[in-house]
Amino acid sequence: MLKSYGYAAFDAKTPLGAFSFDRREPSSEDVLIEILYCGVCHSDLHQARNEWHGTTFPIVPGHEIVGRVLQTGSNVSAFKPGDCVGVGCMVDSCGICTDCRDDLEQFCQEAVFTYNSPDKHTGKMTYGGYSNQIVVDQHFVLHISEKLNPAAAAPLLCAGITTYSPLKHWNVGKGQKVGIVGLGGLGHMGVKFAHAFGAEVVLFTTSPDKIADGKRLGAAEVVISKNPEEMQKHLQSFDFILNTVAAPHDLDQYLTLLKRDGSLCLVGVPDHPHPAPNVGNLIFKRRALTGSLIGGIRETQEMLDFCAAHDIVSDIELIAMQDINQAYERMLKNDVKYRFVIDMRTLQHSDQQD
Ligand code: NAP
Ligand code: ZN
Repeated sequence: MLKSYGYAAFDAKTPLGAFSFDRREPSSEDVLIEILYCGVCHSDLHQARNEWHGTTFPIVPGHEIVGRVLQTGSNVSAFKPGDCVGVGCMVDSCGICTDCRDDLEQFCQEAVFTYNSPDKHTGKMTYGGYSNQIVVDQHFVLHISEKLNPAAAAPLLCAGITTYSPLKHWNVGKGQKVGIVGLGGLGHMGVKFAHAFGAEVVLFTTSPDKIADGKRLGAAEVVISKNPEEMQKHLQSFDFILNTVAAPHDLDQYLTLLKRDGSLCLVGVPDHPHPAPNVGNLIFKRRALTGSLIGGIRETQEMLDFCAAHDIVSDIELIAMQDINQAYERMLKNDVKYRFVIDMRTLQHSDQQD
């Protein structure tokens, strides 16, 4: 076993703190990675606080991992020590079901998520990226171009792919009017990608202080969603709306903005359900209410390569591991521009309990 250390939540109520634990010995298929940076996703907070009611404690969150390869197994040829690599939300899947064969491992019934998921190798729960190192099957390791700032690339592993994948799936591009709801970690990547794909982007935000940033990131227009008059101006005009909001809210206010055959795609996973939308808003214009889950490994690599080619990374605020609890509180106040990333050099082994 590999002695490892990081930060964990020990229950739903107390702040995260230092934690020592074992990782499996790398097999011939595995890559051992020194973690340099880990992004802070709202899903980390939801699960650390057991808001989705599926958390096994202690939990080591973190699924926006960038690091350097320390060691590779004998069957690994695509990576070598020193390579800059990423790990996102998944570390394993069955490899043979139709979802896996279609490169959509995120939908595999046996997908193993990077943390809080039963690990087939050890029978214990997986531990995520708020830690010094990780052992991952080579299929779930991504190449990160040396052109990208590694700290700012970390959020691409979840916030990036979760917005890139639905925008691609629903063929967002030139000539289309596309809405992004919420300017947080996911939303700001959604604005960047939709703009890069050539769409006319409208950002919906509850935060008037984010108007200038919305435009800088690529939105042609920024709408304050709490203002019904501003919303009315956009009735029946959108081809596609990507909703990243992490809290329950009225979906009808966005369904009514879609054209005939338009789609409202939800990626936010609130702790309580949204109020049920009015069926009439779906059937009278044949609109679709849909959702999307991260993206497969092949598409994640495609997204990372697209980012390297187009110089796209996340806007980040680098924090020390010890600042994680304060970062969670700020995330709950929508006070993050636009992703916290933990600098793992701040994680001291001497801080750890053994
Ligand atoms: P985040 O950084 O906290 O951003 C969420 C944004 O939503 C906020 O910045 C805020 O933007 C807006 N918002 C928050 N509360 C709101 C409210 N009550 N009403 C309206 N808008 C509100 O969170 P994130 O990391 O981007 O994650 C967003 C959600 O996606 C979370 O639920 C997360 O678990 C989920 N997620 C899903 C997937 C997937 O695969 N489907 C992957 C990753 C994350 P404004 O200030 O602009 O209003
Ligand atoms: Zn995430």
